[in-house]
Amino acid sequence: MTQTRPRGTVVESFGRRVVVVLDQNRRIDSKVRGRKLEVVVGDLVELEGSDATGEWLVVERLPRRNLFTRSNSRGNQESLAANLDQLGVVVAPLPACDLFIVDRYLAGASFAGIACVLIVNKCDLPRTTEDESALVAYRSADVPVLEVSARSGHGMDALRQLLTGRRTLLAGQSGVGKSTLFNELSGGAFRATRTLSTASQEGRHTTVSSAIVTCPWGELVDSPGVRDYAPPLVPLRDVQRGFTEIQAVSARCRFQDCLHSREPGCAVQSGVEAMQIDGRRYESYRRLLNLTRQLEERRGHHG
Ligand code: GDP
Ligand code: ZN
Repeated sequence: MTQTRPRGTVVESFGRRVVVVLDQNRRIDSKVRGRKLEVVVGDLVELEGSDATGEWLVVERLPRRNLFTRSNSRGNQESLAANLDQLGVVVAPLPACDLFIVDRYLAGASFAGIACVLIVNKCDLPRTTEDESALVAYRSADVPVLEVSARSGHGMDALRQLLTGRRTLLAGQSGVGKSTLFNELSGGAFRATRTLSTASQEGRHTTVSSAIVTCPWGELVDSPGVRDYAPPLVPLRDVQRGFTEIQAVSARCRFQDCLHSREPGCAVQSGVEAMQIDGRRYESYRRLLNLTRQLEERRGHHG
């Protein structure tokens, strides 16, 4: 009779070291076998080892339903988290919102087939007219937008509802209130986890691991790799898939391989002129197209 291997979910990952949660909430510290097997938080894995020795190895990764990745500055793809239900992009009036980063998150999620919600935190503070019109553009691009204040509690019930039964990766620029939201939502469980994982020899400034925080109503994912985010490289023609409102009209372009930059008969450019497509979102699309070209070139040079 073959013995079945224990199976569980990776809830914390720092390099080749992971924490795997098995049934009945048993947490196991484990290493990942070999060099080839890539394991990230959210992965379902199989372990080999024994309680007698206390030595455990992740020996297999089960198929993923999705994988959220980023491009590093050399244009190579890095995996951040697997098997997500949604990406929660957190923005705030302060620090000033970089909408182009927001668009890159949305595009990255879209490339991976992961749903997105925009969480507008600090709604107790006034917003600029630019931010207001950006929210209008997102809503009309079918991105759910939720206004909350981690400080005043406004909208937090609705947010909890949106997160219930789901595994959500929270992304956002530093300072938008992610840690505050994590703590509010998890009842302090977030900080507890992080203290553990960062309490190694080098002290506070050790590279922070990625982690899943399990709450009674759902799971939150924190990944340091989502700051200053660039989406994975896709063929130029597919960049538009990150911008639903642009992709929606692209079938009406004269050329099937239209990149919507200077081509004649482009339905996207006409849409922008007619103000049916938000000009800033279009600008964002063009920037991602350029970034993709640049990263493609860098990758070509460095292998
Ligand atoms: P992080 O870098 O995204 O993790 O941001 P933090 O959670 O550390 O929050 C950055 C700052 O924003 C802190 O001073 C928080 O107290 C503040 N902050 C968080 N949420 C809110 C909010 O809803 N309203 C206001 N006014 N400030 C907030
Ligand atoms: Zn076009």
